[in-house]
Amino acid sequence: MRVIKESVAETTEGLNPESIDLINQYAKAELKEEDVFTFSVLLCDNEIDRDNECFGTDSLNILSELFTGKTGIFDHDWKAQSQMARIYKTEVLTDPHELTQYGEQYTYLKAYVYMLKTEENSQIIAEINGGIKKEVSVGCSVKKKICSICGEEIDSPMCPHTKGQLYDGKMCFGILSEPTDAYEWSFVAVPAQKRAGVMKRYRNSISEYGCLKEYVQAEGNYRLEKELEDLEKYSEMGKRYLKRLYEETVELGIVSGSGFKREFLEKTLKNMGEEELLEYKKIFNKKIDEAFPPLFQLNTENKKCEKLVGDEFLI
Ligand SMILES: [Zn+2]
Repeated sequence: MRVIKESVAETTEGLNPESIDLINQYAKAELKEEDVFTFSVLLCDNEIDRDNECFGTDSLNILSELFTGKTGIFDHDWKAQSQMARIYKTEVLTDPHELTQYGEQYTYLKAYVYMLKTEENSQIIAEINGGIKKEVSVGCSVKKKICSICGEEIDSPMCPHTKGQLYDGKMCFGILSEPTDAYEWSFVAVPAQKRAGVMKRYRNSISEYGCLKEYVQAEGNYRLEKELEDLEKYSEMGKRYLKRLYEETVELGIVSGSGFKREFLEKTLKNMGEEELLEYKKIFNKKIDEAFPPLFQLNTENKKCEKLVGDEFLI
């Protein structure tokens, strides 16, 4: 499943020789200190967000690797190729003085970013310096959302909890686990009062997929995948049940003395739904009961049953 989280760009960082070496790993031509503008961003942390979700500490370590070398964009615009920032170093840091809402050491993923000091970038650099472009949005894929209460995957049949609700005084939240891809980080110009917080976006619209299954698989959402899997299973069961019901009703129609021929019954009952088939089955059964009234009444007394053994009927 894909998640996008927002955070805030931090102050400009000073450059050291080690940093310029790291930056030059990504540069086409050798860059000097004066060629680059660097700053740092807090990409994500283990604090619970507005969606009642947080990244697990393990996830932050994985994301740290996944985001290294990744290019950031502005306002989710891939077309502005020239205006780019690149992460040249990441660190997972712990703040010893701060705890998360659920009492763990506050841990965050910090990224060090550089931009080329070009004419084209000057406006954006000024905006970052001035704190205008400071919202950072992170898009990544995670394999699982784990329930903080029971440790099972949230929204899975094994987990009965709901995010944001209290259980014995503890709030349930989802722990974003096992990141598989860090596909985007970008600056978004969001007016301060309209800080939407966490955004969830789908990369493709549904119409781009051939069928529901393809779409759900591409989305990688456990809950939806599980739901579709269940639906498929029940649909198969339903089809088998209906087929059996149809076959039974045809046979009953023949033996009931209804006078209908097999071909006629098969053709007539073929496309009927459950309700109609059950109705016909009832009618045919009634006909059979009328034509062949039961010889023996079932008796629960053992003696009676013993008497019947070896007789005409075995019960
Ligand atoms: Zn749970």
